[in-house]
Amino acid sequence: MDGKVEKDKNIILKSYKNLITTCDAYLKKEDKALIKKAFNLSLFLHKDAKRKSGEPYILHPIEVARIVCNEIGLNDVTSIVCALLHDVVEDTFAEIDDIRKEFGDTVAKIIDGLTKISGVFDPTSSTQAENFRKMILIMSDDIRVALIKLADRLHNMRTLDYMKPESQLKIASETRFLYAPLAHRLGLYNIKSELEDLSLKYTEPDTYHFVKKKLEETASEREAYIQKFITPLQEQLTKIGLNFTIKGRVKSIYSIAQKMQRQGIPFEEVYDIFAVRVVIDSKDPSLEHADCWKVYGILASNYDTNPNRLRDWLTYPKNNGYEALHTTVMGPQGKWVEVQIRSKRMDIEAEMGIAAHWKYKDKIDSLKESKFETWINKVQELLNNPQLSAIDFIEEFKSSLYTDEIYIFTPKGDLKTLPKGSTVLDFAYEIHTQLGNHCIGAKVNNKVLSLNAKLHNGDQVRILTSKKQFPTEEWLHFVTTTKAKNAIKEAIKERRKNMIQKGKEIFEWRLKQLQLSLDENHQVFKEMLAYLQIPDMKEFYFRLGTHHIDLKKVNEFVELKKNNLDAPIPQKVNEFEKLVLEKRGLQPDELVMGNVQQLNYLIAPCCQPIPGDSIVGFTEPNGIYIHRTNCKEAIKLMSNFASKIVKAKWTEHHDIEFLVSVRMIGQDRMGMLSNIVKVISTQHKKYIRSIKIDTEDGLFDGTIKFYVSSTEEIEHIINNLKKIPGVLNAIRMYS
Ligand code: MN
Repeated sequence: MDGKVEKDKNIILKSYKNLITTCDAYLKKEDKALIKKAFNLSLFLHKDAKRKSGEPYILHPIEVARIVCNEIGLNDVTSIVCALLHDVVEDTFAEIDDIRKEFGDTVAKIIDGLTKISGVFDPTSSTQAENFRKMILIMSDDIRVALIKLADRLHNMRTLDYMKPESQLKIASETRFLYAPLAHRLGLYNIKSELEDLSLKYTEPDTYHFVKKKLEETASEREAYIQKFITPLQEQLTKIGLNFTIKGRVKSIYSIAQKMQRQGIPFEEVYDIFAVRVVIDSKDPSLEHADCWKVYGILASNYDTNPNRLRDWLTYPKNNGYEALHTTVMGPQGKWVEVQIRSKRMDIEAEMGIAAHWKYKDKIDSLKESKFETWINKVQELLNNPQLSAIDFIEEFKSSLYTDEIYIFTPKGDLKTLPKGSTVLDFAYEIHTQLGNHCIGAKVNNKVLSLNAKLHNGDQVRILTSKKQFPTEEWLHFVTTTKAKNAIKEAIKERRKNMIQKGKEIFEWRLKQLQLSLDENHQVFKEMLAYLQIPDMKEFYFRLGTHHIDLKKVNEFVELKKNNLDAPIPQKVNEFEKLVLEKRGLQPDELVMGNVQQLNYLIAPCCQPIPGDSIVGFTEPNGIYIHRTNCKEAIKLMSNFASKIVKAKWTEHHDIEFLVSVRMIGQDRMGMLSNIVKVISTQHKKYIRSIKIDTEDGLFDGTIKFYVSSTEEIEHIINNLKKIPGVLNAIRMYS
């Protein structure tokens, strides 16, 4: 026992010394005394606590302090003290006031921002969202809160192996949903990529390990190639007298996986896996831009460049302050290589992001300062909006992290600005709510597109409407702007109210016809609702109003009542579930999927998982929804409502079939459609539910929906579809 204590003590001292060595150069004598005081207090408060790995807890705050100083570049004494103390208020008996007394207001305020709200758990609100909003509130006053929080999250992600699978999923989703975008907004590129890679490791382990292995297998080949590419470049740059370094780099696992999934291509076809970075040490700051363009000139005279992929962030830095020149050139053996060119100063700022600016506050150039201020002002506006719930706040905050915008023209040539990724529907709502509510599509540059089509910079859009059109829940997946979302929700609420009224009128009229005068609270209606498995009269009226009611069942019930028999009320679904689970010897919180329909589990319409996909369940009022673990909607839910997560996995045998959508692109030729149908229904004996095909300029672009029973099966079918002559691509779609 004593040996263990002794050993722990040594580990703690070693890592503390390591921290001090790391930040030594930046600290004054009195700073060191303050850091020591913070360390001693943290050590005392966390004393016997252990991390899930079994290590002494104190190693976590020490490591967070090291990341803050070393990897984020925030090396002022306040930040290090706060990092060391970041968990004491949340996890020990210490209070904010104690911290204030010992370390002053600034430290207390930052630690408060890093401490979760304690108190009653209200299942209808989201504590996760409330906590995030609180952190952002304090961040808007002192950016260090966010930087320390990111260091904390990074260390937790690096050590996530020790957590339970549900916690891994929750933390990884939240990281992907909120913290990686935040790191991006603050210009911390390395941290953003590492957070994304690590979250992929837990949300899509198969994909992660597949790409990782592929990268390892091809590492030596890649290095040889990069060497071949940079040698002549080095010679020529030396000749013109530039001081520089060149490094080869590889895209992150996450970005490669994203490309593969989005474009439906294999690893080998992701063309810009190679990237090279040239960093110039300019003799004079005024020469930075000219030097970068010199490098570009040499590249362009040696290789073919792709003009569509030239990015000039020298003249127009990104909103997060990023400056560089990016170009893609055709290297030896016909491979595309992305080259990033930047000065040493730009390089440091790109690695350190906002921390670099924060530190050299007096040196920040006014353009960057104003861009950052604009963002912070926008965040403050959101924080001050009393109508935003914590969850809506997160939604809005997230969209503020991606400030990329697109410019769209109205038919008259007026310019509208929308966030990147906006659709026809967003544009319609941007102009007028009624235009949005009745939108059926648009003419975009004279081509007819559906209402969920994404818009691009410079598009001219004429909205097409129909009086019969009205918004549905599904539309919420098609829009990006809050304006559109709110308008859709409002319209749905309004319509529901109208439909309930209509249903009520129909029902009352029917009762009158039957010469019955019964109060809606009458026992017979309670029996009827139970018989139809409808929760309340409102819902009954609504379904009646929208003609979504099984009239056969209503008549059945009436017949039974006429004959004075008691209607048999179906056993409650929950009871039934319990029975089945018990029979299989399973825990109620562990769903084994397979006979999904029978158990009343619902397949989420947003991602339509099928056996083989890794899945997660969410408890909703009308049942448990099954999502794919990498579904956008699920990631959002896990970030806000971790308590609703239900572990789920597929059974081995699948006798149930699931709907999938496959998008196909190819030449528009005679017999193409019948070839496609033949592969799916004759060769694989699958039921096709729908086929939608657009053709233009000799190309067809179609979506086919059909039923399969596993991921293996769909892969097999897609491979066969790709073999059809003239088919250019076939991809499984997730929405
Ligand atoms: Mn922590």
